[in-house]
Amino acid sequence: MQIVRTISDLACLHESALVPTMGALHEGHRSLVRAAVASGRPAVVSIFVNPAQFAPGEDLDAYPRTLERDLDLCRDDGAAAVFAPEVDTVYPGDASVQTPPLPAVAASPGLEDACRPHFFQGVCRVVARLFDLVRPAEAFFGEKDWQQLRVVTEMVAAHQDRWPSLTITAHPTVREPDGLAMSSRNVYLSPSSRDRALALHRALSRASEGEPAMRRTLDAAGLTTDYAVIRDAETLLAPTADRPQRALVAASLDGTRLIDNAAVP
Ligand code: AMP
Repeated sequence: MQIVRTISDLACLHESALVPTMGALHEGHRSLVRAAVASGRPAVVSIFVNPAQFAPGEDLDAYPRTLERDLDLCRDDGAAAVFAPEVDTVYPGDASVQTPPLPAVAASPGLEDACRPHFFQGVCRVVARLFDLVRPAEAFFGEKDWQQLRVVTEMVAAHQDRWPSLTITAHPTVREPDGLAMSSRNVYLSPSSRDRALALHRALSRASEGEPAMRRTLDAAGLTTDYAVIRDAETLLAPTADRPQRALVAASLDGTRLIDNAAVP
């Protein structure tokens, strides 16, 4: 497995299957890596804690960094390369590095876009840059970050001239046996807050009872809810009966903010 740190070493990895991550890999990430390997293209895992998607006061410095272990996992899963660039490589301060305008799904729903106003600007900036540098044929994203998945899908669809024939492939959320969605941020949870965090999954399982039932479930566990909503699965705007719907929740407990989502049956 190649460990790539510079742009020039990426040249032989074009037309790959890319899995963008911020590292601290868990089974959710690994399911994407294995899917990328199974695509038959060389699988490239990018590991980059993207400062542009953290606001001042968020957990950029505390974010878990476990590069040596991550490299072992990628090797075990059959990745062809890990791209682990420095911040200056991704953001050279060059005006020619352009972030495309945000799609509507990054600004209109009032979900992550409202709670973390800087976030999708940072996500689109890094994802666009990674696509430009790596030039993959396919890129894999988790359903765990549903709005992000929709944002990246729409961004690529709107810029087919920039990334012709790039396919975005989604993979289902990988959960702990008790239902907690795997997340690099779960390491912040104490044993008692980890138990309470299960309320996110319980709230989603009550989506067919409506938004108030979802919110009550989070409140009863003492979580601070940012949103507990049912939306159109594509636009993330108000749902209509004839189109697929998605339940989405975001809540904090003991200083850790978690998100989760599920299809509404
Ligand atoms: P992150 O390292 O948190 O930026 O996530 C990198 C990729 O892994 C994103 O596409 C996430 O949606 C995906 N991911 C994170 N957690 C999970 C999970 N539990 N199941 C599936 N995909 C996940």
